[in-house]
Amino acid sequence: MAAYNIAVLPGDGIGPEITREAIKVLDAVGRKFSLTFSYRFADFGGIAFDRHGHPFPDATKSICDAADAIMKGPIGGPKYDTLPDVMMRPEAGALLPLRRRYDTFANLRPVVLQRSIQDASPLKPERLGKGVDILMIRELVGGIYFGRKVEPAEQARDEKGEWYALDECRYTESQVKRIARVAFRQARQRNSPLHNIHKANVLATSRFWNLIVQDVQKTEFPGVEMRNMLVDSAATALVTNPSQFGVMLLENMQGDILTDEGGGILGSLGLMPSACLNPETGRGYYEPAHGSAPDIAGQNTANPYSQIGSAAMMLAIRFGLQREADAVWAAMLKVFGDGYRTGEIKTPNTPLEKIVSTSQFGDLVAENVSRVEVGR
Ligand code: NAD
Repeated sequence: MAAYNIAVLPGDGIGPEITREAIKVLDAVGRKFSLTFSYRFADFGGIAFDRHGHPFPDATKSICDAADAIMKGPIGGPKYDTLPDVMMRPEAGALLPLRRRYDTFANLRPVVLQRSIQDASPLKPERLGKGVDILMIRELVGGIYFGRKVEPAEQARDEKGEWYALDECRYTESQVKRIARVAFRQARQRNSPLHNIHKANVLATSRFWNLIVQDVQKTEFPGVEMRNMLVDSAATALVTNPSQFGVMLLENMQGDILTDEGGGILGSLGLMPSACLNPETGRGYYEPAHGSAPDIAGQNTANPYSQIGSAAMMLAIRFGLQREADAVWAAMLKVFGDGYRTGEIKTPNTPLEKIVSTSQFGDLVAENVSRVEVGR
């Protein structure tokens, strides 16, 4: 029986609730397809700071290094986001170091509005057009998030004696080339044009980005159509005509923002799974695109679709288990098709008995996994 070792980082806020459901579904996949998933749990983020005095302890690093794949829940929360030592905060002390450790430069974020929950979208049906099926590809280890910083606490002064702070934005040729290749490959596979998003009217790094992306297209992917679009236009186009997009390529910060807008057009960030990958080494981690949702943590109301979908991406991408991943997607589709909704995507037409909790959603998906038919 094939066995897969997964490091599970449940994280903070709703993280433990939604990772529990993803494990429930993975176990159902294991039973159906005679596979063994073994889990090693590790503290990461705020919970790790509380228990071990560091958001990314060495023991967690060892568990992640030894695993076949990493499934991560969201981290952070108000208690940690204002810790005086910036490097002890979850983003700076855990999330960015995790990305750096495995050089996970490619963040794949599917923004897919399933037909059966189309009315969860805040957009009018005529705006949704042919529907929403976008793969947003965000560069994840470069740009302004990883550049040199001057923190307010350093009390730095400029030449006029003014107190200032700094975030440097820098991209190198190899950084842009490798993410462009990932995006063009995906566009070719999906037979879709690639929308290259940029801010070249203002930013030197965007002008550089466009030069390199254009060169990659010309020399390696001449058959894939590329459309350049300013990030501000793209923000508008996503709500006025989202069905024009198939694959979008975004740098780190612009991608952070527009992928959350993707969750907005679906109606919930809880519908946003993601994979953070280094396709060259195969290393990566799988996490929802959203945060720890402190406003609903501990209430068993969060939508675990994002975490379960991230687990399905892990099955397909890391383990090559496409049929098993398809079973998970089909099982989730059936839950929506049967009329069930988590609370945040209910509509006035959703009957009370169809509004389900986090754990009920997971139960339904796990039951469906055992029933759905998937091709070989
Ligand atoms: P958030 O994404 O946690 O929540 C934004 C809104 O979406 C909230 O109303 C929340 O209830 C809702 N939401 C998010 N996920 C949901 C789900 N699965 N089901 C139903 N509703 C859901 O953003 P925030 O509140 O700005 O951030 C909270 C914390 O998360 C912050 O500390 C932030 O730094 C952190 N964060 C972590 C990650 C990560 O771990 N990769 C990513 C983004 C934010």
